Amino acid sequence: MRDKIKKANLILGGKEPLDDGIRFRIFASSLAGVHLILAGIAAALMCQPLLVANLIVCLLDLLSIFGTRNGRNYFTWISMVYFASCFQSLYACVLLGWRYGFSLYNLTMIPILFYFMYLTKSISNPRCYAVLYTLINCVATLVIRRLVYAGAPIYYFPIHTDFKISFFNNIVCFLFLISFSTLFILELSVKHQELEQQNQKLIRLANYDELTNLRNRRSILAEWKKLQRTDYCVVMGDIDDFKKVNDTYGHEQGDEVLKTVAQSLSHSANDVDFVSRWGGEEFLMIIFGDISSALEVANKVQQKLKATELKVGDQRLLVTMTFGISECGKKLDGAIDELIRQADQRLYLGKRSGKNCIIVSDQ
Ligand code: GH3
Ligand code: MG
Ligand code: MG
Repeated sequence: MRDKIKKANLILGGKEPLDDGIRFRIFASSLAGVHLILAGIAAALMCQPLLVANLIVCLLDLLSIFGTRNGRNYFTWISMVYFASCFQSLYACVLLGWRYGFSLYNLTMIPILFYFMYLTKSISNPRCYAVLYTLINCVATLVIRRLVYAGAPIYYFPIHTDFKISFFNNIVCFLFLISFSTLFILELSVKHQELEQQNQKLIRLANYDELTNLRNRRSILAEWKKLQRTDYCVVMGDIDDFKKVNDTYGHEQGDEVLKTVAQSLSHSANDVDFVSRWGGEEFLMIIFGDISSALEVANKVQQKLKATELKVGDQRLLVTMTFGISECGKKLDGAIDELIRQADQRLYLGKRSGKNCIIVSDQ
């Protein structure tokens, strides 16, 4: 019971969606309740055909709860309950005339039908069916209206009876519309929140590398293109002899090294700088400031890596990196390709001249 109250609170707070089963049970049981009350009214009026019609529809409403118990057949039962309710209302109009307000049920059922068709997962083509069923309802209502208008009602009751019953029907229809519209809006807002969360996840996946949590190449290039300034350096770093790490200690240990390096890079750069995994064991950073600022960051990384205790069993693994740095400045004015080419060339120079070093010029 406590769990149910908690769940109801979450649903009413717009934090959890209704599942198809609960949604349908709320609908079918409230309809069954209304039809039972109408059967009681028909009994009090001693209008046997209306009593029988209401009891049959009430029974069908209850049967639909059992019919959908296995989480299937929603489409069939929603259709049956919808048409049975509409038929019952029109039948009541034929028996008693239009003044009793039974035709309101036919209008009330339309938005509720759309709600169920749209949000019940197993229903395909909800729009087609909702429109088709509404059209059938509309044509049937207009035809019966025309017939009842032309002929006299079959049953007459004491004065004011029509007012009381019509009052009851109005209240029920308003309550139905208010409650189901509220549920519809709550469910849509939950779905909207879920989509928003998924969207955020997708944005994260598209822009960040899963292993290192650093920006990926696509993301840093996008940020780079947006830059309005030229006072920065491009730092291209590559782990030395990384293939050996993989070959000696395995790919998983290699991944651990990549994570450690990523952390060293992030912690060495400033908050405004951009750090990315350019690909494989290569990293690219955009460091704001002149060559000395970039040198400082690259030096910090090397020191951090030197001080890092990366252990495989009893052995300590020493990771080193080589860096190539190019400076943007006024001359290159944000020419991305040229800056990458220069940094890459200097990195290559560093590799050739013994690795574990930082190169800032082409000589
Ligand atoms: P150098 O010092 O010249 O850079 O040599 P290196 O061995 O670091 O460079 P090489 O290009 O020969 O090897 C890079 C290796 O990086 C090969 C590849 O299997 C490995 N690698 C690339 N991406 C990943 C990854 O995500 N995880 C792991 N564990 N290894 C990776
Ligand atoms: Mg390497
Ligand atoms: Mg490489």
